[in-house]
Amino acid sequence: MKQLLKDVVCHGFDWVGLMPAVRCMFAGRAAIIMFHEIQREFRSELATGTSISLFEHSLSWLKREGWKIVSLQECLERVSRNDRSHRYAVLTFDDGYRDNVSVALPILERHNAPFLMYVPTGAPTRTLQAWWLGLRELIRSRDDVTVDAMDARFHCPDFQAKVSALARTTQWVHEDYERATMLTPTFQKAGVSLSRLNDAYFLDEKEIERLSHHPLVSIGGHTTSHSALKTLDSSSARAEMVDNRHYLQNLIQRPVRHFAYPYGKPNACGPREEQLANDAGFSTAVTTCPGQLDARRLNHFALPRTFVGHLDSQIAFQARMNGLQRGLHMLLGCRHAA
Ligand SMILES: [Zn+2]
Repeated sequence: MKQLLKDVVCHGFDWVGLMPAVRCMFAGRAAIIMFHEIQREFRSELATGTSISLFEHSLSWLKREGWKIVSLQECLERVSRNDRSHRYAVLTFDDGYRDNVSVALPILERHNAPFLMYVPTGAPTRTLQAWWLGLRELIRSRDDVTVDAMDARFHCPDFQAKVSALARTTQWVHEDYERATMLTPTFQKAGVSLSRLNDAYFLDEKEIERLSHHPLVSIGGHTTSHSALKTLDSSSARAEMVDNRHYLQNLIQRPVRHFAYPYGKPNACGPREEQLANDAGFSTAVTTCPGQLDARRLNHFALPRTFVGHLDSQIAFQARMNGLQRGLHMLLGCRHAA
């Protein structure tokens, strides 16, 4: 319903020809775009990543609209010196999914688009407690699901019911990341193996190492275990960053300068983590907070990103890149103030 409302607003602005005005007023000069999986079987994966068609559309649209796809480093340099010759987009992929190579890479090569992949150590070493993959597997493979720790039962025989059950269970973990381990008995009872899912969905060490030699690719850090850093004590949070950086540098034999906070929202990272990322030797860190880059408010250790995926429509992506979301927030904010 929320998605439908968003689409109606976006189409409305587009239809009455207001999108160019929105772009002039609210679009930033640069944006970091965040992807996770790029899925060929989008519906059978319960629309958890970005469909191949939306991904292809996004890249073609960026080019058509005059956005230049550049590395994060180049983008930050251009924003800092207020270079207004183009708009700049940075493409980022979190977690190190296999389909980033099998599905996305040929498309990225066609566009000659550089990209940055953030890899947690646990993915290539097959130890990641990827509870989100466990939940998806659990829900897509059966029509009745009981999650004991939540004290919840879901009847989900079709796509829509499965998507909504997955959204509710995922949200329950996002509210308190310590709940992730409470799902283990449910996974065990249902025969859902997280290590098998690691094998199925994440690139392995050899593949990451090979990928790192690709001229379009940079590899960034994403912690050892993909924990919400804010929930850890300082020395554990520091070790999550430092160990992951050492691991990746050792694996790919080149410096790892960029970092992404797992989950990336204010309940998972804040000023303490910004300082720790700086101390660990990274030169940038991205969040998952929405927004574009603005030279006046550029904190290299809390860079916002623009999400593209799930059940987004093409028009919703375009509207977000044109700053409609930001514009509506500002207008609503003004109304509240009044
Ligand atoms: Zn992640």
